[in-house]
Amino acid sequence: MKKLLLLAAILPAAAFAQTPDRAAELRDAALGDDVAWTIVEGLTTEVGPRMAATEAEARARDWAVTKLKALGFANVRIEPYSMQGWVRGEEKAEIVSPFPQKMVVTALGASASTGAKGITGEIVGFASVDALKAASPETVKGKIVFVWHRMAPTQNGSGYGMFGPVRWNAASIAAQKGAAAIVIRSVGTDHHRNPHAGMTTFTPGVKPIPAGALSIPDAENLERMLARGKPVTMHLTLTPQLTGAQQSGNVVAEVPGRDPTLPIILIGGHLDSWDLGTGAIDDAAGIAITTAAAKRILDAGQPLRTIRVVWFGAEEVGGFGGKAYQQAHASEAHALVGESDFGAGRVWQVTMNTGPDGQAVKTRIGAMLAPLGVVTSKEEAHAVTDVDPVADTGTGVLGMNQDGTRYFDLHHTPDDTLDKIDREELRQNVAAWTAALAVAAESREKLRVK
Ligand SMILES: [Zn+2]
Repeated sequence: MKKLLLLAAILPAAAFAQTPDRAAELRDAALGDDVAWTIVEGLTTEVGPRMAATEAEARARDWAVTKLKALGFANVRIEPYSMQGWVRGEEKAEIVSPFPQKMVVTALGASASTGAKGITGEIVGFASVDALKAASPETVKGKIVFVWHRMAPTQNGSGYGMFGPVRWNAASIAAQKGAAAIVIRSVGTDHHRNPHAGMTTFTPGVKPIPAGALSIPDAENLERMLARGKPVTMHLTLTPQLTGAQQSGNVVAEVPGRDPTLPIILIGGHLDSWDLGTGAIDDAAGIAITTAAAKRILDAGQPLRTIRVVWFGAEEVGGFGGKAYQQAHASEAHALVGESDFGAGRVWQVTMNTGPDGQAVKTRIGAMLAPLGVVTSKEEAHAVTDVDPVADTGTGVLGMNQDGTRYFDLHHTPDDTLDKIDREELRQNVAAWTAALAVAAESREKLRVK
């Protein structure tokens, strides 16, 4: 008894954050969190859309530095890197014949320009990327390719992996076969008359063509037109521009640990967004959730391990921030990485990869999350884009899987705005991350996989 009291007198209070009771207290207090809301509300109101490698993204970095300093984080800084910029121009789609009417379209990232006058071409339709792949170039040459799909909502968002290639790959395949342009059914699950933006990728050596995404109601209308068996002609105007070498950057902040020799914990989200909405769920929410959780650990006293929070730049257009971070910090030991980038829906599942020593930590985290309704998965955790390059070096990975049932209704659309975020669900996310950090940042076990 006496010995214990003595110990309590000489150890800083923070040393007790490792007790299950303390982690549970921090978790429960986080259910009243307002920090995450102030971040997502502030960023979407005071900055708004934050396209990578633009002046808006630079303003967002400045906003981030001010905010992170005000929250009391240490070593707040911008780590810049250079990349090629691309900006949206005019975007119009119109059926010329046989049923003249306008359609709602947006240019996909990396799309070429049609020129200001636009182009007119006959539509050739495909029900899948595989159908387009199988088509002979003669059927496609000089035409406007249209690819549709049947993506439906799922809790884990797995429809994106299945149907994402319609956006990611179809434009390059169409270009290789000599198509004049491509329009796709937006990769999404809503029925609003909103197009979903996002990157497409042209294989090196393939000359980019104009590439757009139609809103889902317009894509369904176009399918019905094609089903009538007559040639369908579209006039398409997309005038995006390449802006050459531009600056982007990551914003870094830290909660310094008591033992700087221990490998650090890296968490965060991405600061850039698409430009049609204000990037509330993608991904102001993710940076807000992870930052608010780190702030709670910061305020509870110094953790054992350093927690680094990164607001990554230029994720949407190719994960440039994550790659730049890994290059800049290759010599530093990272124990565990995790990113929040799947909206603001409640966390329903936790996945975690660690080496054998970390299994006990995984079990402790699972137990700490159970009262929040979170189940522990036996499946492997997959690192999200920005932390993936660091995870590839053999770190442990923490995956807080959010309910994504409605995520692809909003993803990359004009509807990605603050009002779509449920404050209680946002708080549940903060509580889940706080609990996991409270356990992981106090662990001495080796968390790396290799
Ligand atoms: Zn995102």
